[in-house]
Order: sequence, then structure tokens, then C-alpha cells
Amino acid sequence: SIPLGYFAGIGALSKNGVLVKGGNYIEALKNLTKVVFDKTGTLTHGVFEVSKVVAFNVKEKNIIKFAAYAEEYSNHPIAKSIKTYYKNKININLISSHEEIPGHGVKANIDGFEIFVGNEKLMKKFNIKYDKISEFGTVIHVAINNKYSGYIVIADKIKNESKETIAKLKKLSIKTIMLTGDNEKVAKYVANELGIDYYYSELLPNDKVIKLENELNFTNTVAFVGDGINDAPVLTRADVGISMGGLGSDAAIEASDVVIMDDKIDKIITSIKISKRTSKII
Ligand code: ADP
Ligand code: MG
Repeated sequence: SIPLGYFAGIGALSKNGVLVKGGNYIEALKNLTKVVFDKTGTLTHGVFEVSKVVAFNVKEKNIIKFAAYAEEYSNHPIAKSIKTYYKNKININLISSHEEIPGHGVKANIDGFEIFVGNEKLMKKFNIKYDKISEFGTVIHVAINNKYSGYIVIADKIKNESKETIAKLKKLSIKTIMLTGDNEKVAKYVANELGIDYYYSELLPNDKVIKLENELNFTNTVAFVGDGINDAPVLTRADVGISMGGLGSDAAIEASDVVIMDDKIDKIITSIKISKRTSKII
């Protein structure tokens, strides 16, 4: 049976916009020793601004247009940002096929052209010769008919609450770790800026599961916090899977144990505090 105090805890958390799917997670939140964060959409807003477009043998305008069309059916924060930047209406009749490759990007057929939009891993996977681009930001490569055609540099911003949240976790003697599919430069910058204990970059969704599993053992209680895009497997694997209710997909909300409805990551601190109080009552 569930001790009555847990109901009070679940109630107090829900008043704070945090849904907890059971008393055992209140116990786990109280005992947390490590918090593993996803970067994009969790520590950062996941709203990217285009800072540069470079085109080879095609018009810059067309790089953006093809990219926006190829990303039409993707919910990834990068896809949303490119579509926002394109601004114009998308004629979906011109999209004859589309495929999302998690941790890589997208592949689509647009008006008879084979389009690839994504990172270096995507270019390698489809044997497209690309340039190694040294820019500060997330570099999204674009290939048209298997020919490297240009790239888009996009940049995200760190959420205001992130730094304080990491500092408070540190005060509670909780280790912080960041996992990201983004490049090393961006990962290093964000981790240093926030005072994250350690981080791993350029990970595929399955690499994230492995990195998380490496943190799990009998003496640690580990939470994973993610925005949910591609994160369902990691959310399930953690002792406590925490997702963002606003940004997250239905699949992510289902895979998680705790849902922060307003996406404010400082609610983690509130949740830990309420859990500690609840446990005292019990
Ligand atoms: P993270 O949330 O850690 O950034 P993801 O696995 O969602 O990790 O994405 C990792 C990387 O894969 C992105 O930084 C980007 O380079 C590439 N990528 C993923 N999805 C897309 C997409 N829809 N369009 C372009 N690039 C993408
Ligand atoms: Mg993500």
C-alpha cells in the first residue's frame, strides 16, 4: 500500500505544475545523486536562429527552401526553426517522400530532387562528400541529388533558469551530466557556461541510452531530464525519467515518470524539496 503522505506529496507537486506517476518516484526524487540532462530543448530553449547560410552552385534562397520542405514533417526543434526562417507557405504536394533519421536529420524527395538535411553523420551515412565546416553553432548540411550544396548555421540560447538549477543541484551534492547529439564545440560551450560536471557530445539516441546506463548502479539514483524528442528510450531507462510537458511528444510523456508541465527546469529543485518534505511527514 502507498503511505498516505505520498498522496500529499503528489498533490503538492501537481499544484506546482509537476505530475508524478507514483509514490515511488517521490522516494527516488528525494534520494537523487545524479541528474543527466539532454541539451536541446531542456537546458536550451530549442529555438534556433539562423545565423548564416552558405550555398555552393545554388541560390542561398533555394538552400533554405529545400531545407524547409524537407523538414516539413519533422517536429525536431531544428526543423521548426528552419521552417520559421523560411516564412513562406509550403506546398505539400511537392513532397513525394520524407523520412526522419534520429540523431542525423531528414531525407526527402521534393519536386523530384533528393534532399538531405542534417549533420555530418547524415552526410557520411549516405556517402555524400561534404566540407568540414568550422563555425560556432550547430551546422546543418544540405545536399541536393546527393551533391553537397551548402549549409545553414543555427544557434540556440541557454534558458535563464538553467544556470541556477545546476548551481542548486550542486549545493544538494547532486552531480550533473549533459548528453547531446549536437557537436563538441556547442556542447563544451553550454556545459562550461552552466557548470555541468561532465558531458558527452555527438551522441546518437542509442548512445544516450548507453551513457545513461553507465551512470546507473546500486549506490546512485539517477534522473534523466529531456524535452522528449528522440528521448523516450533514455527516459524509460533512468530511475526517474523527467520530461517537459509543453514541448514533449505524447510518447515522451508516456515514457516518463515525472512531467514538468510548463517546461521550467527549475521545477526539478521544487520537486526535490517537496519530496524531501513529504518523506519527513511519512
Ligand atoms: P539533441 O537533443 O541532443 O540535440 P538529437 O538526437 O535530437 O539530439 O539531434 C542530434 C543532432 O542530429 C542535431 O544536433 C542535428 O545535427 C541532427 N538532427 C536531428 N534531427 C534533425 C532534423 N530534423 N534536421 C536536421 N538535423 C537534425
Ligand atoms: Mg533533444
